[in-house]
Amino acid sequence: MIFTEFLKRNRVCRHDKVSPDVEYAYCPDCGELVENKWYIVRCGCCGIKLEGTTKNGKIIPQEKFCRNCGSKNFTVEQTDKINFVDIRYAIPVKTVVKTADINYTQSWVNTAERRFSPKLLAENFRV
Ligand SMILES: [Zn+2]
Ligand SMILES: [Zn+2]
Repeated sequence: MIFTEFLKRNRVCRHDKVSPDVEYAYCPDCGELVENKWYIVRCGCCGIKLEGTTKNGKIIPQEKFCRNCGSKNFTVEQTDKINFVDIRYAIPVKTVVKTADINYTQSWVNTAERRFSPKLLAENFRV
C-alpha cells in the first residue's frame, strides 16, 4: 500500500516549480527533495554535441540524424557542471532524492535507449 502511494505521488508531481538553475530544492508541491541533473546528448559516431529533448522520460536527440556525419547513433552523458557553451545542449532532469536512503527515483533509466551505457556515463562523468 505504501509502495502504491509512492508511485502515485511520483506520477502526479512533475516538480514544475523547482527551478532548473539550482542543484537541489524541495518541491513546494509535494515536499520531495529534488536534484537537478544535467545530461548532454552526443553523436555516437563522431561525438559532437546534439541538441536533445526528453520524450516519454527518455533523453533523445531532437533530430534523427547527426548533422555532421549522418549517423543516428547517440550517447547520453551526465554532466556535473554546465557552462555557457553547453547550456543550449544541456537537458535538465529532475530527480527525487530519497533522504531516508541514497536510492534515486530514475524511472527513465529503465526505459532508456538500448545503447545507454552506465559504464561510459560514469567515465565521462569524471572527465
Ligand atoms: Zn514535486
Ligand atoms: Zn556524428
